[in-house]
Amino acid sequence: MSRAAQVAALATTAAQAVAAAGPATEAGPIAEADWAAALAAVRDLPADPEILLVCHLNPDGDALGSMLGCGLGLAQLGLPVRATFPPPFELTPPFDRLPGSELLVDPAVAPAAPDLLICFDAASANRLGELAGRLDTAGTSIVVDHHASNTRFGAVHLVDPGAAATSVVVEQLLRRLGVPLDEAIAECLYVALSTDTGSFKFDLTTPAVHELAARLLATGLRPAEISRRLFDSRPFGAMKLYGDVLARATLEPDAADGRGLVWSYATLADLARHGQHRHVLEGLIDAVRVAEEADVACVLKQVAHASDPDRSEWAVSLRSKGAVDVAGVAVGLGGGGHRLAAGFTAHGALDEVVALIRAAL
Ligand code: 5GP
Ligand code: MN
Repeated sequence: MSRAAQVAALATTAAQAVAAAGPATEAGPIAEADWAAALAAVRDLPADPEILLVCHLNPDGDALGSMLGCGLGLAQLGLPVRATFPPPFELTPPFDRLPGSELLVDPAVAPAAPDLLICFDAASANRLGELAGRLDTAGTSIVVDHHASNTRFGAVHLVDPGAAATSVVVEQLLRRLGVPLDEAIAECLYVALSTDTGSFKFDLTTPAVHELAARLLATGLRPAEISRRLFDSRPFGAMKLYGDVLARATLEPDAADGRGLVWSYATLADLARHGQHRHVLEGLIDAVRVAEEADVACVLKQVAHASDPDRSEWAVSLRSKGAVDVAGVAVGLGGGGHRLAAGFTAHGALDEVVALIRAAL
């Protein structure tokens, strides 16, 4: 079947898919009208369309996995798809071996005015960095996300705050488009799902999440290999760096109204001393948040201005075990995220930034 014929057939296929799908995986709040609008945006593309998929800055497993999984699904429909993310355009382990990476193009050569733009895992337009302008130049746009704080910055919104990952929404979209799961799509969606559920440990790990995981695994995935790559493997130098960071962690039992704060930091000098790249710090917050005396955990990662400590730039990660809404704290300081996992970018000396966080808590 030609691509045009395939896309023309979508209207029927989609309707049949919805009918055949039965109840949705998650009883999410995405309205049928929004699903219909999303399917129409795909169905009504011109001949030889330009379709661009984008995800948030410094993409994590959910951003990349959702985007590439969706991209592979659209490609199965015969649609030409390109995917990108804002600079620095660099794929780092463990996400450099995801299926669908062949769809990635440098943002500098990504279509300037695509017919359709689809955004993944971004709560607001500024999370798309310099690609945010594509929202204005694109023919239409679909925002696929699961942040409660989503600002609904596109034309069509598939946003389910009850979904454990953006990939949960992507799987529903692909089902409604009539795209069957193959192993490559499933690996992308599984990486996304296990990243955002902390390996199926967090609160939103519902029975429906396990059902979805089961369907993904049934395509032939090897969970042990994927989990080791995502969570249990890092260079020896990074292990030593974690040791330094944990050794200097501070516990403040009285912070956050007595709920407790544990925090630590990693500088560019730490990275250099151990010969490590910034991406190895992604799991650092998980090592710090184990301190049982603190509800809130914080890791500050220096990203710029190493020569002038007073003007440092820090990527700050916040986590709560349940008592504190860290998204509120992060939003107040210019960032965003989820109630129990959030972050923001800060400028200034380490002590100043920590004092800001303490005060916000
Ligand atoms: P992480 O601490 O793993 O980098 O980020 C945790 C969550 O916080 C992310 O899923 C994302 O939703 C949010 N987040 C982290 N950094 C930022 C930021 O600089 N701005 C915004 N808006 N959200 C962030
Ligand atoms: Mn996510």
